[in-house]
Amino acid sequence: MGSATSSTCYSADRASSSVRDRVTNPRADLLSQRSNTRGYPLHMSTHSTFASPVRTASRPLALVLFGPPGSGKSTQANLLERTLGLLRVSPGDILRAHVARGDALGIEVRCGMRMGQLVPDEIVNRMIAERLTNPDCKSGFILDGYPRTPNQCEVLIRLLHELACEPLVVQLTLDVDIAIARLSGRQECATCGELYHVSSRPPRVAGVCDSDGSKLTVRNDDREDAIRARLSAYQAQTAPSLRLLSGAGYICTAIPSESAPPEVTAENIGEWIRRATNRRAVDV
Ligand SMILES: [Zn+2]
Repeated sequence: MGSATSSTCYSADRASSSVRDRVTNPRADLLSQRSNTRGYPLHMSTHSTFASPVRTASRPLALVLFGPPGSGKSTQANLLERTLGLLRVSPGDILRAHVARGDALGIEVRCGMRMGQLVPDEIVNRMIAERLTNPDCKSGFILDGYPRTPNQCEVLIRLLHELACEPLVVQLTLDVDIAIARLSGRQECATCGELYHVSSRPPRVAGVCDSDGSKLTVRNDDREDAIRARLSAYQAQTAPSLRLLSGAGYICTAIPSESAPPEVTAENIGEWIRRATNRRAVDV
């Protein structure tokens, strides 16, 4: 991995050394032991479809969503955006938008990508901070794909404090064998890019694209050893993040994603959010 000295793209990689003020209070998860000095009455539908936006009286809801590969995390983020009326915020999307616009940040990011580097925490943090202070986030948001590192967690904790958000953390869980079955069954058409799955979305003729008759292939990162490596990396990355967020007093929960259709999982998450925020109002 070449040195970064040939480029000034990533000059500031240490911007957040001062950000460890609020990581205290090592408390475990869950609604039970939360108390608060303010009430957060909700204006929510009582129907299972959650037609109304989730909104606390004085603070926007910040839902942090974690989920291993195969758990359908982004599907959940999209469903929840619709059903809970919260804006979905994903660093990947923001990065692509900056690169497409060709603004200063976009140029900086593309410069690093060309060198095969991961986007540094400092840039991701800056991007997210800028995005979350946008007026359209005032009604609450879902973080999909952020935070990923302890440094990002610390920055997020400070940011949500400054924005006076109501943080909740949902971790989608998935049995390893089911994750492997889901991910290893994926097939892709090399010609048109259409995605299939041997059990959940099989082509009409096994191994052949419905649209153009091309042979379907399995991507390298959907092979079993690669999937196991991705799952381990996710665990290694997520565990410290969850520890930091719950240590900062965030209410966290784990919701299974394997046994129900995505819409039902989304309803379960919505139901948990409603209970968590109601409980907090009651705990005053
Ligand atoms: Zn095709």
